Amino acid sequence: MNAVAEAVRDGVLPGRVWLYANYHCNLACTYCLTESDPRAERRELGEQRMLALAQQAAELGFTALGVTGGEPFLLPYLPELLARLAAILPLVCLSNGTVFTERRLERLRPLAELPAQIQLSLDRPEPDPNDQMRGPGNFRKVVDAIPRLVERGVRVRVATTVTAIDDEERERLCELHRQLGVPDADHIIRPIVRRGRAVDHGLGVDAGPADLPAELTITTDGAFWSPFGPTVHGGRLDTDLLVTRTTTPLKVPAAALLRLVHARPAGADTQLNIR
Ligand code: SF4
Repeated sequence: MNAVAEAVRDGVLPGRVWLYANYHCNLACTYCLTESDPRAERRELGEQRMLALAQQAAELGFTALGVTGGEPFLLPYLPELLARLAAILPLVCLSNGTVFTERRLERLRPLAELPAQIQLSLDRPEPDPNDQMRGPGNFRKVVDAIPRLVERGVRVRVATTVTAIDDEERERLCELHRQLGVPDADHIIRPIVRRGRAVDHGLGVDAGPADLPAELTITTDGAFWSPFGPTVHGGRLDTDLLVTRTTTPLKVPAAALLRLVHARPAGADTQLNIR
Protein backbone atom coordinates (compact mmCIF):
# COMPACT_ATOMS: atom_id res chain seq x y z
CA MET A 1 0.00 0.00 0.00
CA ASN A 2 1.36 3.45 -0.88
CA ALA A 3 1.96 6.13 1.77
CA VAL A 4 -1.02 8.24 0.68
CA ALA A 5 -3.41 5.26 0.87
CA GLU A 6 -2.05 4.42 4.33
CA ALA A 7 -2.48 8.02 5.48
CA VAL A 8 -6.07 8.09 4.22
CA ARG A 9 -6.83 4.73 5.80
CA ASP A 10 -5.37 5.90 9.13
CA GLY A 11 -7.20 9.24 9.04
CA VAL A 12 -3.95 11.22 8.77
CA LEU A 13 -5.08 12.62 5.42
CA PRO A 14 -8.73 13.36 4.66
CA GLY A 15 -10.14 11.05 2.00
CA ARG A 16 -11.68 13.72 -0.22
CA VAL A 17 -9.94 15.39 -3.17
CA TRP A 18 -11.48 18.68 -4.30
CA LEU A 19 -11.53 19.78 -7.92
CA TYR A 20 -12.06 23.45 -8.73
CA ALA A 21 -14.05 23.05 -11.94
CA ASN A 22 -14.08 26.78 -12.77
CA TYR A 23 -14.08 30.22 -11.18
CA HIS A 24 -16.84 32.11 -12.98
CA CYS A 25 -20.35 32.37 -11.59
CA ASN A 26 -23.74 33.84 -12.47
CA LEU A 27 -23.87 35.42 -8.98
CA ALA A 28 -21.52 37.78 -7.12
CA CYS A 29 -22.10 37.03 -3.43
CA THR A 30 -20.89 39.48 -0.80
CA TYR A 31 -18.74 36.88 0.95
CA CYS A 32 -17.51 34.98 -2.12
CA LEU A 33 -14.11 33.41 -1.42
CA THR A 34 -13.12 33.47 -5.07
CA GLU A 35 -14.45 36.90 -6.12
CA SER A 36 -16.54 35.01 -8.64
CA ASP A 37 -18.99 36.74 -10.95
CA PRO A 38 -19.96 36.43 -14.62
CA ARG A 39 -16.78 38.21 -15.75
CA ALA A 40 -14.32 36.38 -13.49
CA GLU A 41 -11.40 34.62 -15.10
CA ARG A 42 -12.70 31.09 -15.80
CA ARG A 43 -9.64 29.07 -14.68
CA GLU A 44 -11.44 25.99 -16.00
CA LEU A 45 -9.92 22.65 -15.03
CA GLY A 46 -11.45 20.81 -17.98
CA GLU A 47 -13.47 17.68 -18.41
CA GLN A 48 -10.68 15.26 -19.36
CA ARG A 49 -8.33 16.53 -16.69
CA MET A 50 -10.99 16.14 -14.00
CA LEU A 51 -11.66 12.57 -15.10
CA ALA A 52 -7.95 11.75 -15.10
CA LEU A 53 -7.48 13.30 -11.65
CA ALA A 54 -10.44 11.35 -10.28
CA GLN A 55 -9.04 8.10 -11.64
CA GLN A 56 -5.64 8.84 -10.12
CA ALA A 57 -7.27 9.79 -6.80
CA ALA A 58 -9.00 6.41 -6.66
CA GLU A 59 -5.76 4.59 -7.54
CA LEU A 60 -3.90 6.48 -4.81
CA GLY A 61 -6.41 5.42 -2.15
CA PHE A 62 -8.51 8.56 -1.80
CA THR A 63 -12.12 7.77 -1.04
CA ALA A 64 -14.21 10.72 -2.24
CA LEU A 65 -14.34 13.71 -4.58
CA GLY A 66 -15.62 17.24 -4.22
CA VAL A 67 -16.41 19.47 -7.19
CA THR A 68 -16.59 23.20 -6.61
CA GLY A 69 -16.10 26.59 -8.25
CA GLY A 70 -17.29 29.29 -9.16
CA GLU A 71 -20.59 27.79 -10.23
CA PRO A 72 -19.75 24.38 -11.73
CA PHE A 73 -23.16 24.06 -13.42
CA LEU A 74 -22.24 26.88 -15.82
CA LEU A 75 -20.05 24.29 -17.56
CA PRO A 76 -22.15 22.73 -20.32
CA TYR A 77 -20.75 19.24 -19.82
CA LEU A 78 -21.18 19.09 -16.04
CA PRO A 79 -24.21 16.78 -15.55
CA GLU A 80 -22.72 13.92 -17.56
CA LEU A 81 -19.25 14.55 -16.11
CA LEU A 82 -20.62 14.26 -12.56
CA ALA A 83 -22.08 10.85 -13.40
CA ARG A 84 -18.74 9.70 -14.80
CA LEU A 85 -16.86 11.03 -11.75
CA ALA A 86 -19.31 9.43 -9.32
CA ALA A 87 -18.75 6.10 -11.06
CA ILE A 88 -15.09 6.45 -10.01
CA LEU A 89 -15.51 7.79 -6.45
CA PRO A 90 -18.42 9.08 -4.33
CA LEU A 91 -18.77 12.81 -4.83
CA VAL A 92 -20.37 15.98 -3.65
CA CYS A 93 -20.80 18.90 -6.05
CA LEU A 94 -21.33 22.40 -4.67
CA SER A 95 -23.76 24.71 -6.43
CA ASN A 96 -25.59 27.96 -5.82
CA GLY A 97 -28.78 26.21 -6.96
CA THR A 98 -29.92 28.90 -9.38
CA VAL A 99 -29.30 27.31 -12.77
CA PHE A 100 -31.42 24.16 -12.62
CA THR A 101 -33.55 24.32 -15.72
CA GLU A 102 -35.90 21.42 -16.41
CA ARG A 103 -33.52 20.08 -19.05
CA ARG A 104 -30.51 20.22 -16.74
CA LEU A 105 -32.48 18.49 -13.98
CA GLU A 106 -33.35 15.66 -16.35
CA ARG A 107 -29.69 15.26 -17.26
CA LEU A 108 -28.94 14.85 -13.54
CA ARG A 109 -31.34 11.92 -13.14
CA PRO A 110 -28.57 9.27 -13.47
CA LEU A 111 -27.02 10.62 -10.26
CA ALA A 112 -29.90 9.03 -8.35
CA GLU A 113 -28.28 5.64 -8.98
CA LEU A 114 -24.79 6.80 -8.06
CA PRO A 115 -23.01 7.87 -4.85
CA ALA A 116 -23.47 11.57 -5.61
CA GLN A 117 -24.80 14.56 -3.72
CA ILE A 118 -25.50 18.10 -4.85
CA GLN A 119 -24.83 20.63 -2.10
CA LEU A 120 -26.90 23.79 -2.48
CA SER A 121 -26.37 27.05 -0.61
CA LEU A 122 -29.25 28.39 1.45
CA ASP A 123 -28.32 30.82 4.19
CA ARG A 124 -31.55 32.11 5.70
CA PRO A 125 -35.16 30.91 6.07
CA GLU A 126 -36.65 34.05 4.49
CA PRO A 127 -35.93 35.63 1.09
CA ASP A 128 -34.78 39.14 2.04
CA PRO A 129 -31.93 38.37 4.46
CA ASN A 130 -30.84 35.47 2.25
CA ASP A 131 -30.81 37.56 -0.91
CA GLN A 132 -28.99 40.48 0.73
CA MET A 133 -25.77 38.45 0.58
CA ARG A 134 -26.45 36.38 -2.53
CA GLY A 135 -28.47 38.59 -4.88
CA PRO A 136 -32.11 39.17 -5.83
CA GLY A 137 -34.25 36.09 -6.48
CA ASN A 138 -31.69 33.65 -5.08
CA PHE A 139 -33.89 32.26 -2.29
CA ARG A 140 -36.82 31.58 -4.61
CA LYS A 141 -34.67 29.73 -7.14
CA VAL A 142 -32.96 27.52 -4.54
CA VAL A 143 -36.21 26.67 -2.77
CA ASP A 144 -37.65 25.77 -6.16
CA ALA A 145 -34.66 23.62 -7.19
CA ILE A 146 -34.32 21.47 -4.05
CA PRO A 147 -37.60 19.47 -4.30
CA ARG A 148 -37.18 19.09 -8.06
CA LEU A 149 -33.81 17.40 -7.46
CA VAL A 150 -35.19 15.35 -4.56
CA GLU A 151 -38.16 14.09 -6.58
CA ARG A 152 -35.71 12.78 -9.19
CA GLY A 153 -33.93 10.80 -6.50
CA VAL A 154 -30.85 13.05 -6.41
CA ARG A 155 -29.49 13.44 -2.88
CA VAL A 156 -29.32 17.09 -1.84
CA ARG A 157 -27.33 18.68 0.98
CA VAL A 158 -28.04 22.21 2.15
CA ALA A 159 -25.11 24.40 3.21
CA THR A 160 -25.75 27.47 5.31
CA THR A 161 -22.92 30.00 5.43
CA VAL A 162 -23.41 32.74 8.01
CA THR A 163 -21.58 34.97 10.48
CA ALA A 164 -24.16 34.02 13.13
CA ILE A 165 -27.65 32.55 13.35
CA ASP A 166 -29.85 32.48 16.44
CA ASP A 167 -31.79 29.43 17.60
CA GLU A 168 -35.17 30.62 16.31
CA GLU A 169 -33.91 31.45 12.84
CA ARG A 170 -31.98 28.18 12.67
CA GLU A 171 -35.13 26.25 13.58
CA ARG A 172 -37.13 28.04 10.86
CA LEU A 173 -34.40 27.17 8.37
CA CYS A 174 -34.35 23.53 9.48
CA GLU A 175 -38.14 23.31 9.15
CA LEU A 176 -37.82 24.67 5.65
CA HIS A 177 -35.17 22.20 4.48
CA ARG A 178 -37.12 19.31 6.00
CA GLN A 179 -40.25 20.45 4.13
CA LEU A 180 -38.19 20.55 0.94
CA GLY A 181 -37.09 16.93 1.46
CA VAL A 182 -33.63 17.38 2.98
CA PRO A 183 -33.08 15.61 6.33
CA ASP A 184 -31.14 17.14 9.23
CA ALA A 185 -28.16 14.89 8.51
CA ASP A 186 -27.75 16.65 5.15
CA HIS A 187 -27.77 20.21 6.49
CA ILE A 188 -24.52 21.90 7.46
CA ILE A 189 -24.01 25.31 9.02
CA ARG A 190 -20.57 26.84 8.74
CA PRO A 191 -18.96 30.22 9.31
CA ILE A 192 -18.03 32.67 6.60
CA VAL A 193 -14.28 32.48 6.05
CA ARG A 194 -12.51 35.82 5.80
CA ARG A 195 -10.96 35.42 2.39
CA GLY A 196 -11.84 36.77 -1.04
CA ARG A 197 -14.69 39.29 -1.09
CA ALA A 198 -15.42 38.67 2.61
CA VAL A 199 -12.19 40.55 3.43
CA ASP A 200 -13.50 43.71 1.74
CA HIS A 201 -16.76 43.51 3.69
CA GLY A 202 -15.10 42.73 7.04
CA LEU A 203 -16.98 39.44 7.27
CA GLY A 204 -16.11 36.07 8.69
CA VAL A 205 -13.40 34.29 10.62
CA ASP A 206 -9.72 33.94 9.80
CA ALA A 207 -8.72 30.43 8.82
CA GLY A 208 -5.26 28.96 8.28
CA PRO A 209 -3.87 25.43 8.06
CA ALA A 210 -4.52 24.87 11.78
CA ASP A 211 -8.22 25.53 11.21
CA LEU A 212 -8.75 23.71 7.94
CA PRO A 213 -8.67 19.97 7.21
CA ALA A 214 -5.81 19.12 4.83
CA GLU A 215 -8.08 18.22 1.92
CA LEU A 216 -6.08 18.03 -1.30
CA THR A 217 -7.53 20.65 -3.64
CA ILE A 218 -6.67 20.86 -7.31
CA THR A 219 -7.08 23.94 -9.45
CA THR A 220 -5.77 24.87 -12.84
CA ASP A 221 -3.11 26.95 -11.03
CA GLY A 222 -1.84 24.31 -8.60
CA ALA A 223 -2.62 22.11 -5.61
CA PHE A 224 -3.73 23.58 -2.28
CA TRP A 225 -4.11 22.56 1.37
CA SER A 226 -7.91 22.97 1.43
CA PRO A 227 -10.81 24.08 -0.77
CA PHE A 228 -10.58 27.31 1.24
CA GLY A 229 -7.03 27.77 -0.09
CA PRO A 230 -7.26 28.79 -3.77
CA THR A 231 -9.21 31.96 -3.05
CA VAL A 232 -8.97 35.22 -4.97
CA HIS A 233 -8.56 38.70 -3.56
CA GLY A 234 -8.03 41.89 -5.50
CA GLY A 235 -8.14 39.81 -8.68
CA ARG A 236 -5.12 37.76 -7.59
CA LEU A 237 -5.04 34.12 -6.60
CA ASP A 238 -4.04 33.63 -2.95
CA THR A 239 -1.04 31.33 -2.62
CA ASP A 240 -0.55 31.15 1.16
CA LEU A 241 -2.11 27.65 1.17
CA LEU A 242 -0.49 26.54 -2.10
CA VAL A 243 1.15 23.12 -1.76
CA THR A 244 2.72 22.86 -5.20
CA ARG A 245 2.14 24.15 -8.73
CA THR A 246 2.31 20.55 -9.96
CA THR A 247 -1.09 18.88 -10.17
CA THR A 248 -0.45 15.87 -12.39
CA PRO A 249 0.29 13.13 -11.76
CA LEU A 250 -1.78 13.47 -8.62
CA LYS A 251 0.72 11.49 -6.59
CA VAL A 252 3.06 14.51 -6.66
CA PRO A 253 0.75 17.00 -4.85
CA ALA A 254 -0.63 14.19 -2.66
CA ALA A 255 2.87 13.34 -1.43
CA ALA A 256 3.70 17.03 -0.96
CA LEU A 257 0.55 17.55 1.12
CA LEU A 258 1.31 14.49 3.21
CA ARG A 259 4.79 15.82 3.96
CA LEU A 260 3.26 19.09 5.17
CA VAL A 261 0.74 17.22 7.33
CA HIS A 262 3.52 15.16 8.92
CA ALA A 263 5.50 18.35 9.57
CA ARG A 264 2.58 19.92 11.44
CA PRO A 265 3.23 20.22 15.19
CA ALA A 266 1.56 17.58 17.36
CA GLY A 267 -1.93 18.56 18.46
CA ALA A 268 -2.32 21.13 15.69
CA ASP A 269 -5.56 19.62 14.47
CA THR A 270 -8.42 21.54 12.90
CA GLN A 271 -10.23 23.97 15.14
CA LEU A 272 -13.16 25.23 13.10
CA ASN A 273 -16.01 23.22 11.67
CA ILE A 274 -15.32 24.45 8.16
CA ARG A 275 -16.34 22.09 5.38
S1 SF4 B 1 -20.22 32.32 -3.22
FE1 SF4 B 1 -20.65 30.73 -4.74
S2 SF4 B 1 -22.57 31.40 -5.67
FE2 SF4 B 1 -21.73 33.18 -4.65
S3 SF4 B 1 -20.50 34.26 -6.23
FE3 SF4 B 1 -19.12 32.86 -5.12
S4 SF4 B 1 -19.09 31.01 -6.34
FE4 SF4 B 1 -20.90 32.18 -6.95
